[in-house]
Amino acid sequence: MKVTLVGAGPGDRGLLTLRGADRIRNADVVLTDRFVGDEILAMIPDSAEIIDVGKYVGNHPVPQDEINRMLLEKAKQGLNVVRLKGGDPFVFGRGGEELELLAENGIPFEVVPGVTSAIAGAAFAGIPITHRDYASSFHVITGHAKNNEPTDIDYGALVDAGGTLVFMMGVSALGDICAGCINAGMDENMPAAIVENATMNSQRKFVGTVGTLPGIADKNAVVSPAVIIIGKVCELSAKYDWIVQKPLQGKSIIVARARPGASKLSAALRTLGCQVHQMPSPSIVPLTASGSHIENVMEKIDSYSWLVFTSAVGVRIFYSYLMERKIDIRKLHHLKIACVGSETQSVLGRRGLVADYCPDVFNGEALAQGLSKLVEDGEKILIARAKDGAEDLTRMLTDSGIDFDDVRIYDKKIDVKQLELPDADCAAFTSSSAVEWFAEAAAGMDISRIKAVCIGKKTAATANSHGMETYISQEATIDSLIEKIKALLQ
Ligand code: SAH
Repeated sequence: MKVTLVGAGPGDRGLLTLRGADRIRNADVVLTDRFVGDEILAMIPDSAEIIDVGKYVGNHPVPQDEINRMLLEKAKQGLNVVRLKGGDPFVFGRGGEELELLAENGIPFEVVPGVTSAIAGAAFAGIPITHRDYASSFHVITGHAKNNEPTDIDYGALVDAGGTLVFMMGVSALGDICAGCINAGMDENMPAAIVENATMNSQRKFVGTVGTLPGIADKNAVVSPAVIIIGKVCELSAKYDWIVQKPLQGKSIIVARARPGASKLSAALRTLGCQVHQMPSPSIVPLTASGSHIENVMEKIDSYSWLVFTSAVGVRIFYSYLMERKIDIRKLHHLKIACVGSETQSVLGRRGLVADYCPDVFNGEALAQGLSKLVEDGEKILIARAKDGAEDLTRMLTDSGIDFDDVRIYDKKIDVKQLELPDADCAAFTSSSAVEWFAEAAAGMDISRIKAVCIGKKTAATANSHGMETYISQEATIDSLIEKIKALLQ
């Protein structure tokens, strides 16, 4: 039982500390709020409860007292509680307030610092915040006025100090902030910058002077979160602009998957500069308890000649089942193995198993066609797969007169309580079941405006059946899918 305040950093996954990542991985419950990057949220394990206190009840932020109380209650239940906060938890993050009740109640806690956006915003804008020739200090100031009262910022003192000024929570007060500096004697030609969504693929940076910045920000509709940086160092921003424009910079894509675990597609899209909205994936529920179908068929395992896997998860669940029951893998030595997909092959490989057959095209139809040629008279197949496995495979095997048992060894549980449909340029689907899961998760929302880029005809047909505008990659590979996305969005 412990509460950990984790600084999630400014958004980019690479800017989370190793300790922070470790605490997130081991969390039972995570309280998160605005300004925690999507990539960081995607690291929360499926098994953890996520409470978004930034927009919890009816889209209103949960009051601070209530958050403090929730932290205490969850910790008292013996859970590992992680409180995720954008940037650093103590830099305008109310981290101190959240520890108070815990300290009073003797709850152990830990603070994991984070990279504050005050620093990261400057670094990602090519602004060396304390370049020796320009500034000997930097000052981080909140531009947010409590209850719309005027702020009590001492502009005179700030301007006199001569350091770099970093304003947070200042987008709506940008005009007042710049006027405050000028009225306190700052030259209106003092370089100034605003960095929106710093470190994220959607980052935008605008540089001007303290006199011109409000107009520039207004014209470009800069929104929160953004940091405002005022000082001579900003004039180096163009020279040290190290962010290379990537092919899909500024684009955003929904990636929905029917399986848990890291998505190679999402990682590849992020490398291309794309903002990825990763939909929460379903969690896996093994159907291998006592009295389950798999237990019954294992008793007559000698009657089968083939063992068929259609997913990597299937292999893992099957193998865990064997290990739990202490069934030695050699008991299966007589079976030939067939599987679909390179990941399934590699998961088998890690267990010292090489499939006897794996079709070049990764779908059930191709598998059934291949098997119909390979399975000999009198041979029987054991298919170990998900409860919602596609009908193609079994229908085609039946049509070919092949004897089989279709054993559902796992199911997928979908927790869609807090799904929101992001505003994205398109959605990418790598399987028909991913489309199905997405449609189910988005039930009641209008998904017909979504451009669905699909890995194959079958996936596209499913997307089509849900009213989406579909595009099909030339080949059934991630690379080809990405090419299609590029062609569509560039
Ligand atoms: N604890 C956070 C700050 C919380 S206050 C930190 O250390 O960064 C919220 C303000 O942080 C926002 O109004 C904005 O000014 C700034 N901010 C947070 N994330 C940001 C980002 N990715 N880019 C620019 N500014 C950001």
